[in-house]
Amino acid sequence: MDKVIIVRYSEIHLKGKNRGYFERVFGINMEKSLKGIKHEIRRRSGRYLVECFDENQTDLILEKLNKVFGIHSMSVALKVPTQMNGIFEAAKAVCSESGSFKVDTHRADKSFRLNSMEISAEIGGRLLSVNKNIKVDVHNPQFIINIDVREDGTSLVFNKFFKGAGGMPVGTSGKGLLLLSGGIDSPVAGHMIAKRGMNIECIHFHSYPYTNLQARDKVIELAKVLSGYTCGTKLHIVSVTHIQEEIHKNCNGEYMVTLLRRFMMRIAEKIAAKCGAQCIITGESLGQVASQTIEGMTSSNSVIKNLPVLRPLCGFDKDEIIERSRSIGAFEISIQPYEDCCTVFLPKHPVIKPAIEAVLAEEAKLNVDGLVEEAIKTLEILNI
Ligand code: ATP
Ligand code: MG
Repeated sequence: MDKVIIVRYSEIHLKGKNRGYFERVFGINMEKSLKGIKHEIRRRSGRYLVECFDENQTDLILEKLNKVFGIHSMSVALKVPTQMNGIFEAAKAVCSESGSFKVDTHRADKSFRLNSMEISAEIGGRLLSVNKNIKVDVHNPQFIINIDVREDGTSLVFNKFFKGAGGMPVGTSGKGLLLLSGGIDSPVAGHMIAKRGMNIECIHFHSYPYTNLQARDKVIELAKVLSGYTCGTKLHIVSVTHIQEEIHKNCNGEYMVTLLRRFMMRIAEKIAAKCGAQCIITGESLGQVASQTIEGMTSSNSVIKNLPVLRPLCGFDKDEIIERSRSIGAFEISIQPYEDCCTVFLPKHPVIKPAIEAVLAEEAKLNVDGLVEEAIKTLEILNI
């Protein structure tokens, strides 16, 4: 009796002609997530089997696979040769000590001498005869023993379905560049878009020495969390210190955040072009803070020339974002105190609804292209 993990995939089955491609990327992503752990993955009619692993590492493997987008559900199963004694031994092993149950059999191997109903009835009967504390309830059972009689002469027996991460395999929906701050929102935004199959690279802006090195470490930690879902990522780090100093020196302080955002967008679009990203992703949520009004978004959006800007959190409340942040394992990192570059030289009263004419007038006081070029020279790229 061998322990195996059955992996069922989610939306991939909807993709007609592209199915082979989606499955290939999905398979590669599973392999990447299990790198360094002994295992074998085999594809079997509409699902995958993870086999030949060390049983002590079952939970570790489930934990890793839990972050692979495209997985609908998983089950830990016992694999036995297809004959009734072996199937019964496996059913006994996964059977609860007490409660109501039913046996559900799926028979792909039509040549086996018993049909699904007969297998279920015989295994159910044998289980009843060895355990007086269980009873059959086919309508509302407390647990179900699933038997999957496969075409290759083996059967899989299991009693649980674990929900997978859902979504599409990362890499099947192109690549995006995520503006990753050290806050709660942007990692959640990245996770949501990765879930739709997009590969993510991250860009972070800092104002060292006004912001400290812990802020940088924190962002690296957040990029690592995302990387667990995207099978790796790159973190582009750019200094905006000089840009902020120039804004501070030359412009109306109330426009600091608005102007800085426009610089971030310009730099992000250039880095996106370099790394082949097809969109920019931010963690903005409509109306959440002064800079996230529709006027603020219009102002920062208008400097982007070619790419769409995805703001997946736009319609979420802060509590909804926090809930997601916790569930992806980012929250405890995000709430560590740190200096955000946007709080450096922060005016007492930032403009809330920046009129674009006023923004342009302030910006005209700066050598925009020169500052962008200079900032890009500080680019550092980390493989996460
Ligand atoms: P977050 O929790 O993601 O920091 P926030 O609620 O603090 O978001 P803002 O600080 O207004 O909101 O930032 C809005 C978005 O702008 C962020 O979600 C992020 O995508 C981007 N952003 C802000 N600061 C930075 C930064 N230093 N580096 C990269 N992106 C940033
Ligand atoms: Mg922030």
